[in-house]
Amino acid sequence: QSTGTRNPATTPTHCPYCALQCGMNLTPVEGGTVEVSDRADFPVNRGALCGKGRTAAAVLAPGARLTSPLVRSGDGALVPAGWDEALDRIARNLERTRARYGADALGVFGGGGLTNEKAYALGKFARVVLGTSQIDYNGRFCMSSAAAAGTRAFGLDRGLPFPLEDIPRTGCVILVGSNPAETMPPSLRYFTELRENGGTLIVVDPRRTKTAEQADLHLAPRPGTDLALALGMLHLVVAEGRVDEAYVEERTSGWEEARAAAMAHWPEHVERITGVSVPELREAVRLFCAPEAAMVLTARGPEQQAKGTDTVGAWINLCLATGRAGRPRSGYGCLTGQGNGQGGREHGQKADQLPGYRKLTDPAARRHVAEVWGVDPDSLPGPGRSAYELLDALGTDIRSLLVMGSNPVVSAPRAAHVEGRLRSLDFLAVCDVVLSETAELADVVLPVTQWAEETGTTTNLEGRVLLRRRAITPPEGVRGDLDVLHGLAGRLGVEKGFPVDPEEVFEELRRASAGGPADYSGIDYRRLARENGVFWPCPAPPADGTGATPHPGTPRLFLDRFATDDGRARFAPVAHRPSAEEPDDAYPVLLTTGRVVAQYQSGAQTRRVAELNAAAPGPFVELHPRLAARLGAAEGDPLAVVSRRGRAVAPARITTAIRPDTVFMPFHWPGEGRANTLTNPALDPASRMPEFKVCAVRVEVAR
Ligand code: SF4
Repeated sequence: QSTGTRNPATTPTHCPYCALQCGMNLTPVEGGTVEVSDRADFPVNRGALCGKGRTAAAVLAPGARLTSPLVRSGDGALVPAGWDEALDRIARNLERTRARYGADALGVFGGGGLTNEKAYALGKFARVVLGTSQIDYNGRFCMSSAAAAGTRAFGLDRGLPFPLEDIPRTGCVILVGSNPAETMPPSLRYFTELRENGGTLIVVDPRRTKTAEQADLHLAPRPGTDLALALGMLHLVVAEGRVDEAYVEERTSGWEEARAAAMAHWPEHVERITGVSVPELREAVRLFCAPEAAMVLTARGPEQQAKGTDTVGAWINLCLATGRAGRPRSGYGCLTGQGNGQGGREHGQKADQLPGYRKLTDPAARRHVAEVWGVDPDSLPGPGRSAYELLDALGTDIRSLLVMGSNPVVSAPRAAHVEGRLRSLDFLAVCDVVLSETAELADVVLPVTQWAEETGTTTNLEGRVLLRRRAITPPEGVRGDLDVLHGLAGRLGVEKGFPVDPEEVFEELRRASAGGPADYSGIDYRRLARENGVFWPCPAPPADGTGATPHPGTPRLFLDRFATDDGRARFAPVAHRPSAEEPDDAYPVLLTTGRVVAQYQSGAQTRRVAELNAAAPGPFVELHPRLAARLGAAEGDPLAVVSRRGRAVAPARITTAIRPDTVFMPFHWPGEGRANTLTNPALDPASRMPEFKVCAVRVEVAR
């Protein structure tokens, strides 16, 4: 196999991992990989990288990744095969399933790490080539509740409607269920600078995380009760006369209903639900309301709940009542997690959406996109199942599945069940860089290129569209995801419309997104190569406007009006409700899950990096000394954590940084310590987000 062609120049590009999309420089080195170095000109991270970014080159090494297609042989083993044989086998099986069961028996499962071009091409492939409605992606598990709540309130979802650089210039930030010290460490400087500038940081988290340790105030509610916490704060805002009446009157609708809902949540009642005391609530309200500008930023804590949309909605209500949203240095934002978590949800791999963040059910949107695609709008399928529902239908309604850039065996809720559904498929094809736990189950595995070996765009958590440049050529035997879709489309009778050149795909994406909520039509590769990213929406100048000035992009949204029909932000009249699974005699403890700094998502890449593995070699169960004493558990003892869905075993890590009624497990590992064996797939009715962040478990020492 090839070790890659040397590229003499250092290439400025971006990290393959999280949504910060840190800038970095890559220089080709012996062994087919690159040397990662600081790139100080990119404003988001100003040269800083976390351990994952610094070691990202390790997964490029030929020994760490797949370099040949694999097909399932007669004796059940995965064996190397040529590309034609592998693609032929996938096309043949997809055709067979479609002929026997219909197009909706074909499923497609994408990923929030795919570039905009790949996400776009995958959605088009599902709807135009396969004709299936059954496409969704793992971003549904990431931020879909924030997206639903943001759309409901503001008429538009862009993770952060302002750039990160606004954080140090505001007066107070409430970080809800977010731990950037571990998930995106270079972003922590924004919060440090906030405090250096005299601002205050409030962290809402059941655990005293590394981020919470830096806060002026840490509120540690019982998992699944932060909706009540936000309502309690709003109650106090009203009771203490802190509502921005003029703003509410001029810029919002629905206040009376939201106000009534909040007033039903007395602080003492909220204290009983959340465990956060009334004085703590009052202090949080005082800190949040005192400055002229303030923000609420949410992440997976409030979002990954069966009431995630309403939980985020409650925090948005707090922002609206205090006149924060749509004002300078203020507002609500979501810290998206995956590398292209933002762009990945805008271009058509989501079950209910078309490119440009258009609704699949909107006749005008269907007409526009169908015209770009050269198909009849009536031929486009309607919305399909959400991610967990799609996975749950494998082997029954869905018989064949194509997975691109996702590892649901580790990352899906109720993972043992999902693994069983994947095993029950008639046919499974997986495109990935490494032999992930999901790829191990496949009938055909296609080895694809990765970040440093391909050019493409991503959109970071600020809505900043970026160019990730190719720095080295990939090893022989590896092809791009766009080549895969091109090869499969041709074999399935669609010869045109699936180019392998990412710039050509982006040019089509620009046209497909034109006029939509996420309008990229004024952005092109040349511009991205010149500028350090462009914020969408960025419409193209009018076609006849010779000499028209290019649109500058939109770093800050909603300053004049919200994206609703009447320009007003909408309050949501939300009320607290229990989690789908509350503790009882059989399962008396709460489980919450999350990440550690040295691993990323399902760990498929980072578990293959020696330095990261040494820092975070395996799962653990974090528990309070009081709970440990009750169980008779000592540090390092193997603990069995049992939920209604299964059992996971991992060593005890005893700390006062967690509530005594709660245990925490990180979710990056497969096997015996797989946290997602335990998690609850109860879905949020609006976003279809599973309730990863809270379920009831029993904990015992596994002797
Ligand atoms: Fe990469 Fe995220 Fe780490 Fe930055 S913070 S280096 S984008 S993993």
